[in-house]
Amino acid sequence: MSKSLSRREFLGLSGGVAAVVGLGLVGCGTSGSSSAASSSSSFSKTYTVATDTTFAPFEFTNDSNQFVGIDVDLLAAISSDTGFSYNLQSLGFDAAVAALESGQADAVIAGMSITDARKKKYDFSDSYYDSYVCMAVKDGGDVTGYSSLSGKKVAAKTGTQGATCAESLKDKYGFAITYFDDSSLMYQDVLTGGSAGCFEDYPVMAYGISKGNGLKVVAEEKDSFSTPYGFAVLKGQYPELLSAFNKGLGDLKSNGKYNEIVNKYLKA
Ligand code: GLN
Repeated sequence: MSKSLSRREFLGLSGGVAAVVGLGLVGCGTSGSSSAASSSSSFSKTYTVATDTTFAPFEFTNDSNQFVGIDVDLLAAISSDTGFSYNLQSLGFDAAVAALESGQADAVIAGMSITDARKKKYDFSDSYYDSYVCMAVKDGGDVTGYSSLSGKKVAAKTGTQGATCAESLKDKYGFAITYFDDSSLMYQDVLTGGSAGCFEDYPVMAYGISKGNGLKVVAEEKDSFSTPYGFAVLKGQYPELLSAFNKGLGDLKSNGKYNEIVNKYLKA
């Protein structure tokens, strides 16, 4: 199975995104013993897959300092099922997408929302998880919803659907947006009072709250910002990787492994 990249290893090695991307050996790779030998010949390379740093339960560093999560496990299981090899690089969401666009990464798996705007630039796999944007505030504080945000700062993560949602609401409610590259920094800023709230994907926020992160959801954007997650490649690139991902995802859904992976994180 895949060797995990600990956050400590990652932080220790990173002198910035470029340095990390440049180090082909950073990250956890798996060459997964192929259970589908016949299809492995269609893979021309070891793919570099970029991901976020802290987006539990999809990707995060656990208490044993291992880089884990639903995305991490799904990718490993799909690669074993279909026979492609990859290196996983934990860069941050916006940096992962930038790496994909510049060709430094071949694919992204990062709880990445499949949106119409993104579909113009990327090809997405079948969706593997449903999500929507919410706003969370400090639990026990005095912010009760959007109407409390006038004149205040609100946190969003650069390049995300949460940020797009915040941008669509800021004029109406009179708040300013502070951008962060990492979800945990965003939460921290809400807890310490720098930001009155933060925009985040609901499943990630709900998981964090269940682990006692001290936040509380006060608004849910189920209508306009409801988007499932997919694995992305640049438009027209690596169709063999995309179809392998879809095939593997289908296999995992029918053999129970998909549920096992999701439950491992959500029922823990
Ligand atoms: N699902 C959100 C998006 O794609 C956030 C992803 C993330 O922060 N890793 O924009």
